[in-house]
Amino acid sequence: MALYVTTFILGPLENNTYLLADPETKKAVVIDPSFDSERVLETIDRLKFELTEIWLTHAHFDHLAGATIAYRFTPPLKTGLHPDDLPLWKQAGGAVNWGIHVEPGPEPEILFCHGQKIRLGNSIIEVRHVPGHTPGHVMFYLPTEKLAFVGDVIFYRGIGRTDLPGGNFKQLINSIQTQIFTLPPDTTLLSGHGPETTVAEERANNPFLR
Ligand SMILES: [Zn+2]
Ligand SMILES: [Zn+2]
Repeated sequence: MALYVTTFILGPLENNTYLLADPETKKAVVIDPSFDSERVLETIDRLKFELTEIWLTHAHFDHLAGATIAYRFTPPLKTGLHPDDLPLWKQAGGAVNWGIHVEPGPEPEILFCHGQKIRLGNSIIEVRHVPGHTPGHVMFYLPTEKLAFVGDVIFYRGIGRTDLPGGNFKQLINSIQTQIFTLPPDTTLLSGHGPETTVAEERANNPFLR
């Protein structure tokens, strides 16, 4: 049975927060909980899912501003992050540079690594390290669902910015070429902001990658 995926557009930067759940076991994870993630909890309650973990594609504040939902559970939910983004996480994702205060939630206990395989229900999710927007950015690839959660690496006709601390343009382009454009062309890409797209669409029409 296919995984249940729903998108919430949250916060002033219009972040896409994703709820991913296995309809059989009811186990669910939240990817990049942004501001007002209480809305995600309401949906989880209504559908009687069991939230097990929080996964961060990277540690920018707008992708973790809702991670405090972890404290609604006993014990608090575990958060997953690539270790190369821990320094950024410790600075609350750079929130202070934007003049706002963000409480980043529990310190990540699940440390993602490239090639790691995670099971959710009957689906296998592959972690890929895709640095460039931040040093520890990861994506989550679901081959059976032809789906990839790509955070701020690539957007519909756009790419992630590389002018923030830890950004690297060459690395970002390399991550896209080697980890995203090598996926099957009909793979759907779910980004951290904006509409969904596909590998084929971005290979053909992304103005930054020609
Ligand atoms: Zn970002
Ligand atoms: Zn973002």
